[in-house]
Amino acid sequence: MATFLSLYSGSSGNCALVGEADRYLCIDMGKSCRATVGAMNQLGIDPAQLQGILITHEHSDHVSGLKVFLKKYAVPVFGSEATLAYLAGHDMVPPTARLEVLDEGGQSVGQFAVHSFHTSHDAVDCRGYRITAPSGHTAAMATDLGQVTEEVIEGLSGADLTVLEANYDPVRLRLGPYPYYLKTRIASPKGHLSNADAGDALARLLGEGCEKFALCHLSQENNTPQLALQAVSGRFLAAGALPGRDGLLQALSRSGVSPKIDF
Ligand SMILES: [Zn+2]
Ligand SMILES: [Zn+2]
Repeated sequence: MATFLSLYSGSSGNCALVGEADRYLCIDMGKSCRATVGAMNQLGIDPAQLQGILITHEHSDHVSGLKVFLKKYAVPVFGSEATLAYLAGHDMVPPTARLEVLDEGGQSVGQFAVHSFHTSHDAVDCRGYRITAPSGHTAAMATDLGQVTEEVIEGLSGADLTVLEANYDPVRLRLGPYPYYLKTRIASPKGHLSNADAGDALARLLGEGCEKFALCHLSQENNTPQLALQAVSGRFLAAGALPGRDGLLQALSRSGVSPKIDF
């Protein structure tokens, strides 16, 4: 049995762990080193147990804790070539950091097998990840994407746990306080995913055998966990599935550690 742990998830920072047998991979680190290590310690996890850090993209809510963390802990960092070059070129990692470009065809990171896939976002080369633990159980995660492409569906398909962004409720976004340019950016095909689009994708994946789902990167201003869960549950019901019976569905916490998910 493998475990998924979200330390925090949202526009103020994203970090998750996938683990099995006391070894972990970290996905992104968007809050301070202190906050991140504090959340790990709360879960009884030591940074020395990390076998790698996978980076989705270079936006600060995904990498701002990296530089200080990597000065203290020599954990290798994995990502696309363009993303790692950006981090190195913008002083977002220390010069001593071990940066390893992920093989496009997939590769081992510690005890895990990792495949990446492209996501549509206004970053240099944003990726989603599919991680297989030694037991063969698989978690797949896509965050920060303006649309769900066939490549994303393929990347997420058949995983034991799927973690997908459900960033905003379209009505809240339209009526909310954000300036027009930001609303346009969020709703664009290279922005973020709406609850309804996440629901449509997850209902499709439910039909392909996935039974556990987590919604990540919920907007503070333009969403609530209730709205996101309602929208996705509605799509599940329309597809003839009953959340709770046919799948475990939860929204990850923006500020703190979410309940662990075994998969
Ligand atoms: Zn982003
Ligand atoms: Zn983000």
